[in-house]
Amino acid sequence: MSYQALYRVWRPQRFDDVIGQDVITTTLKNAIITNQLSHAYLFAGPRGTGKTSAAKILAKAINCPNKKDGEPCNECTLCKSITNGTLNDVIEIDAASNNGVEEIREVRDKAKYAPTEAEYKVYIIDEVHMLSTGAFNALLKTLEEPPAHVIFILATTEPQKIPATIISRVQRFDFKRITSKDILKRMEFILNQKNMDYDDRALKVIAKSAEGGMRDALSILDQVLSFGSDHLTYENALQVTGSVTKQAMTKYLYCVIQHDVKSALMNVQDILQEGKDASRFIEDLINYCQDILLYQQSPEMVESAELGIIDDDFKSLSKQIDAQIVYKMINQLNDIQSQMRYTMHPDVYLDVLTVKLSNNYDANSESNDDNSELNSKIQYLNEKVSVLTDQIDKLTHEKNNQSRNDSQTVSMEIPETKNKTRVSPSSREEKVNLSKIYPVLDDATRENLNNLQNIWDELLQSLDVTQRAMMHVSKPVAASENGVIVSFEYPFLFQKANSDTDLSDALENGLDRILGYVPKIVFVPSDQWPEIRKNYLINRKNEHITPENNVNLEHSSIEKNEKKHDNNDENNPDDSEIVKKATDMFGNDIINLKND
Ligand SMILES: [Zn+2]
Repeated sequence: MSYQALYRVWRPQRFDDVIGQDVITTTLKNAIITNQLSHAYLFAGPRGTGKTSAAKILAKAINCPNKKDGEPCNECTLCKSITNGTLNDVIEIDAASNNGVEEIREVRDKAKYAPTEAEYKVYIIDEVHMLSTGAFNALLKTLEEPPAHVIFILATTEPQKIPATIISRVQRFDFKRITSKDILKRMEFILNQKNMDYDDRALKVIAKSAEGGMRDALSILDQVLSFGSDHLTYENALQVTGSVTKQAMTKYLYCVIQHDVKSALMNVQDILQEGKDASRFIEDLINYCQDILLYQQSPEMVESAELGIIDDDFKSLSKQIDAQIVYKMINQLNDIQSQMRYTMHPDVYLDVLTVKLSNNYDANSESNDDNSELNSKIQYLNEKVSVLTDQIDKLTHEKNNQSRNDSQTVSMEIPETKNKTRVSPSSREEKVNLSKIYPVLDDATRENLNNLQNIWDELLQSLDVTQRAMMHVSKPVAASENGVIVSFEYPFLFQKANSDTDLSDALENGLDRILGYVPKIVFVPSDQWPEIRKNYLINRKNEHITPENNVNLEHSSIEKNEKKHDNNDENNPDDSEIVKKATDMFGNDIINLKND
């Protein structure tokens, strides 16, 4: 027998099996017991909440000769043929595909005839809001003069799209989202029946991400089970739902409220590296923040209604974090969520958000002035980052053409952002300064670089928390006796570091203490570093060939460069020497010297 989806196999066949809709099923059973049936019902509610299942149970319960306490027997021929969809008197219509006036006229004409086998003819019209206006009018006529022995059950996820004239002629039932707890119980029941092993936490993850729909929950359960093992694992559930673990979110928020930018950024990287989607992470974070707010106001409510959110870390985080801050976070998360829809670089937004959140929130000293200035700065950086990333993409494509123009000043033009954001003078663009980089490279050795790398952690320990957080995404990439080049993972942190004289002072003091001498520190963004390094080596090569060509490092001169390239074409340079030099300087991190 071919595999049947869980939600089909475990579709409820009795009112008592319909999960989470007790008021509705009790009312319907009573109507059957007391024989007070309406000729038309409207079942409204979100998808997967049991509307069509309840409609079919109602069709059976009305017609079953052995009905008991308002429930069908599910054993007789009528019950069975309704379950299988083979009884001519129970007609299911999907209004999404049969929405024309012709179809409904046909229904109206046929409804006149008495049922052939059952006592009542039952029309179940699913997604009834999809009917055309003409079709609704035809249906209305039928509902106004309902034939005896005909019952209409209309089902919809969007009751607001149904004309009031129709609504006024039906008995309406609103199906609720099913609570996570009820979904969980049902899944437990099913797995126990199937004799399957499961991790409780896996069921909680599935229940939560089904968002109140039993059919969705069972579909997800199906997918997790299809991972192959007989045991339903937490990891598989997380993977299928793309959920981020609570522990990861608790850890992240701790870093944020403690202004630990670096750890927060590393957290984000870890989460993304596990293959989680950036927008899913934001969504989970919003839910989690809402849980914190709810828990702060009414712990009992969360304890009774929610599943497994509450562990000791959650409790202590809820105590430490101020509600106002959580509100602000939710707002910012919402903002970033809408911005992320239009970007190719959601992870960059996530990084910016992280820096923003970590800088913004201090439960003890809230200074609104500081915040607003910081916010406008961050917004500016935010926009700039997105412009920059787009440009880097473009540059990568144009790289081949560009490498000919051995330009000595690497700079990127930032187009004016459309937004009238106030930008403080300190956040103006910082450029890579080649006149400081090249002298360091001239004397750079592998040994100096090794020394710097060895003491880097110790150096960072000598900084204050904010400085350390910023420098944690940096590393020394080249060093001489007189200078060290430090690359930054994030362009906006490079910008920040470059304009921060306190940071340079602190680093130089630290180096003096540890090394006994003070190399000059030069920052570069890590994405520009390979290009800078390559250009330097090409430059050196040209110098080697035409020593009379005195390269002025302060100014870029394209003509000069082109001239050098001409020379270059005539005299073939000795690449091996350059490669050796490169290896001496940077180690085996091989340099691409292609002269394209
Ligand atoms: Zn029956």
